[in-house]
Amino acid sequence: MIEMRQDPTTRTWILVGHTGGDPGRREAPDGCPFCPGREAETPPAVAVIPGPDGAWRVRAFPDKMPVFQVEGDLGREGEGLYDRMRNVGAHEVVVETPEHATTLAGLAVEDVARVLQMFRQRIQDLKKDLRFRYVQVFKNQGSQAGSVISHAHSHLVATPVIPRRLEAELRWSKRHFDLKERCLYCDILRQELEQGTRLVERQADFVAFCPFAPRFAYEVWVFPVVHGHRFEDLDDPALAGLAAVLKSVLQRVERKVSDYHLVLHTAPNEKSPPVWGQPWESLHDDFHWHIEVLPRQAEVARLHREEEFYVNPVAPEEAARQLRETRIG
Ligand SMILES: [Zn+2]
Ligand SMILES: [Zn+2]
Ligand SMILES: [Zn+2]
Repeated sequence: MIEMRQDPTTRTWILVGHTGGDPGRREAPDGCPFCPGREAETPPAVAVIPGPDGAWRVRAFPDKMPVFQVEGDLGREGEGLYDRMRNVGAHEVVVETPEHATTLAGLAVEDVARVLQMFRQRIQDLKKDLRFRYVQVFKNQGSQAGSVISHAHSHLVATPVIPRRLEAELRWSKRHFDLKERCLYCDILRQELEQGTRLVERQADFVAFCPFAPRFAYEVWVFPVVHGHRFEDLDDPALAGLAAVLKSVLQRVERKVSDYHLVLHTAPNEKSPPVWGQPWESLHDDFHWHIEVLPRQAEVARLHREEEFYVNPVAPEEAARQLRETRIG
């Protein structure tokens, strides 16, 4: 049982409680539940993308131990000045390939494109649910990045709130647009292309570069050159172009570090209620979707899960009780 509580001082939503089960024991002792032939060990698929032979190449299903639950209303309520709500959302796993021992970077470009098609399809579908303000797509590769099952997969999490980092991006890109009537990200791209010193690669309609102020060593951002606020609007040829750049960028990153997070930042659900005032009026012009690749190395210990959602298994009431009962002196 998990609930969401908002820290009023930072407006950060925290997930308090247990998902049930031990997340450290998700891989079956006798092998991998994501391999072909073992589909019965995961919940039934919500979507599959087949290869030319008809067998699945990409498979999406609800997470067995979801941090968010799809049923019910938000149940928003106050407790004095505090706000809480139920952890309504959707949490899905996308198995990226039937092959056990490969990484996303090791897949053929057309198979990377199939993974991106699955992201597009699931985002479009989840955004039909007006309870969900945002659909987060992310991937944790390697144990440093928090992945337990080694078989290549990613996560989709639809949430009633906007992740904190994305909210910051939305806020500052809107402010830039209000001041200059230009997209902040288009301006960044223009400067990066002009300066060239941080460019990693440019292919067709996409550019990959290391950001000016990266959080991690070898951090890379991938942007479409032509302005667009929603990843899920890309057509198949555009996804194929993105797949080629992404594969190449990930191959480069993997030469440096084996473990990384990959996060897709697309526009929030414009059909859901706005967060501040009329925030979506210029969203189409002020936000620019992109992918962030965030390599992880051993020395960075901060828990990074579901992009800025921290899972706290101990409720503060329980923590306080234990602290009160702790013998000291
Ligand atoms: Zn496997
Ligand atoms: Zn732009
Ligand atoms: Zn971003």
